Amino acid sequence: MDSSITQNMKSESQKKSISKPGFCCLGIIDNCMLRCKMCEKWKDDLVTQGMTEATTDQYKTFLQQLRTITDEGFELDIGGGEALMRPDLLELISYARDLGFKTTVASNGWLIDKEMARRIVESGLTSIILSFDSLNSEVHDSMRGVQGVHARVVQAIEYLRLFSKDIHIGLCTIIMEKTLDGIIELVEWSNSRRDKINSILFMAVMQPNNTVKQDKWFDQDFNTIWPQDTKKVVACIDELIRRRNEGQWIANSVEQLKAFRLYFQQPNKFVKKTACNMDRGLHISAVGDIFLCFKWDNLGNIKNGADISQVWYSKEAETVRENIRQCKDNCHFLLNCFFEGDYPFKCDV
Ligand code: SF4
Ligand code: SF4
Repeated sequence: MDSSITQNMKSESQKKSISKPGFCCLGIIDNCMLRCKMCEKWKDDLVTQGMTEATTDQYKTFLQQLRTITDEGFELDIGGGEALMRPDLLELISYARDLGFKTTVASNGWLIDKEMARRIVESGLTSIILSFDSLNSEVHDSMRGVQGVHARVVQAIEYLRLFSKDIHIGLCTIIMEKTLDGIIELVEWSNSRRDKINSILFMAVMQPNNTVKQDKWFDQDFNTIWPQDTKKVVACIDELIRRRNEGQWIANSVEQLKAFRLYFQQPNKFVKKTACNMDRGLHISAVGDIFLCFKWDNLGNIKNGADISQVWYSKEAETVRENIRQCKDNCHFLLNCFFEGDYPFKCDV
């Protein structure tokens, strides 16, 4: 790690006042074979283009270090891009499992044939979350930009369950213009397949990944993905809340769904009322950079020997945490990412 950070380590007694990581996301690859309309990870990355990814050994060292500052069973969330495009992904998952981590991979399902499903199960992966936006294959495939994705996801569920009755198989569905009409039907479908599908999680559509930030993206370049009929989206979310309260398997909390409702009504007025919780978040980018939140300082790189057990307790990390707690961004990403409890959002509507 940077010697300056080593010198700036907090003392043992100061460390006790700093929370352990609450969330860790490894964006393990910045590439994807699909051509989604609501995500541009398949284009050259605006930040990491031309940079090299961390190696298998560098990730293993990082995982060993992370284990020293987290409890047994801490969950690693692994995404991308399409995480399964990384050839050593399953080796890293087995390594993480042996260290005592739980692991979750977000995948578009494209690469999961029968053999891949067997290998995924054998790796010890705890949970796989498959993108599935609609029961209507035309809707899903058009939003994902490639014909046949829908069929592959449906088949992937069957293959994964064939090899394990225990692996958690979840669906992740983005609420957006084209998927809105099929959301409730999708809840019914997944809830009637509880032997195969363990959860369905909804995400509110955001400005696509890997695009230059626009304050009014939903009115500008990306308005085609934003739900145009506010009453319709509110009615849909109210129905999700009703079903969630009834005990249907919807992974979002009622609080999160209420936050979605406010967001879809007036995305510009969406504000935090208390401090952001990303001060306990840890992100490792595809090229190994260490962040708590991407808006704030990079705290080192796992390729350069940065030791996360030292970085986490450094004075630099504490400065970033203070910035995060004070952050006044009207940040939409928190709606979907590391949403906790009665989350701190309100809206003047
Ligand atoms: S949303 Fe997922 S599947 Fe689509 S381009 Fe982005 S990373 Fe790929
Ligand atoms: S609100 Fe600020 S600190 Fe929190 S995730 Fe968004 S940009 Fe980061």
